[in-house]
Amino acid sequence: MNERLFGAVEDRTDELVALTADLIRFPTVNPPGEAYRPCAEFLGARLKKLGFETEFIRAEGAPGDSDRYPRVNVVARFDGRSPGPCVHFNSHIDVVEAGDGWTVDPFAGVVKDGRVYGRGACDMKGGLAASVIAAEAFMATYPDFPGAIEISGTADEESGGFGGVAHLARLGYFSKPKVDHVIIPEPLNKDRICLGHRGVWWAEIETKGEIAHGSMPFLGDNAVRHMGAVLQAFEEDLFPALDRKMTRMPVVPEGARRSTMNINSIHGGQTEDFRPGLPSPNVPDWCRLTIDRRFLLEEDIATVKGEVTGILERLKRERKKFDYEIRDLMEVLPLMTERDAPVVKAVAKGIMEVFDREPDYVISPGTYDQKHVARLGHLYDCIAYGPGILDLAHRPDEWVGIADMVESAKVMAIGLNVLLRGTTG
Ligand SMILES: [Zn+2]
Repeated sequence: MNERLFGAVEDRTDELVALTADLIRFPTVNPPGEAYRPCAEFLGARLKKLGFETEFIRAEGAPGDSDRYPRVNVVARFDGRSPGPCVHFNSHIDVVEAGDGWTVDPFAGVVKDGRVYGRGACDMKGGLAASVIAAEAFMATYPDFPGAIEISGTADEESGGFGGVAHLARLGYFSKPKVDHVIIPEPLNKDRICLGHRGVWWAEIETKGEIAHGSMPFLGDNAVRHMGAVLQAFEEDLFPALDRKMTRMPVVPEGARRSTMNINSIHGGQTEDFRPGLPSPNVPDWCRLTIDRRFLLEEDIATVKGEVTGILERLKRERKKFDYEIRDLMEVLPLMTERDAPVVKAVAKGIMEVFDREPDYVISPGTYDQKHVARLGHLYDCIAYGPGILDLAHRPDEWVGIADMVESAKVMAIGLNVLLRGTTG
């Protein structure tokens, strides 16, 4: 056990709590992307006091970026006494809207019963604060350490990360030789290492029809009925097939250990917005469906798309007047960092030291900013690891446990020690 390093973290417990509460007090709600600049500047100022060099990078032109809601990111770097690898902690500063059902003010940073409450407490301002304290404790304990530590606070993770990590990764902030190892302190629980996520394909399918008077539908061609045939084929052929595909990826919860597809929306024909009058009767000449397909490491995206287009092509052959279009909305490939990757082994050592047991290795059912680090930064030594219970994210009375934050800051500090100094002790 590294008593010195653990003591340095414990000595900073009050600061860790105060920092978490301070971060929660910036209502960085996304959308629209409120208070990003003051939150990033606060974090930057805090790190500057520790000797970090800070940069503020606005993602101009990113979705949602405007002078009223600038997508401001902060990247801070501290170079050690001698050259060596760089460990980067990346946290998103945005939070989702508070919603209803709170018993405390979601943006007051309330501390009670060993917890810090507030929107973003668990997802993921508690993790951000833990990484700052871990770095601080490590730097104070080993002032001569080699290599570098970076900490970033980035925008827009909740809406895809395009004005945040994706923007920075395009500019080279998440690539070698600048950065070697990335830890994203998302709330995956203090004793679990998240290696990656399933893949995503979103698409919009449109069926075509021909408008006519609703009293004589035989004169037109009903696009909604064509979509009904698509849905029926999905029910009969696609969903059962997806359900049979199991993965070796350790996805949590277990229900997501197979292929899934959600129908996100369906719209066809005239608007429902006819009140206070009545709609006039028409045969709908279009119907649109959006699908959200989550796929596994064992599947390739061409096959995933082919399963859907195969059904649409079959309907085109078999069903009279059936015609369609399909449009890709988003695609992200599945990711799984290997268990023997340096960052995984280093954080696993930290978990062993703090909890005296092996970590659980998990995969997230949905994506997070690791996708941009891999796809745009071409950096694969990346994991998510941080305090907080994932189920509390985005819910009312969100909280993060103070003891959990302290323990995971210890794990992160050991991770730094292993990656930069090559030792736990
Ligand atoms: Zn998050």
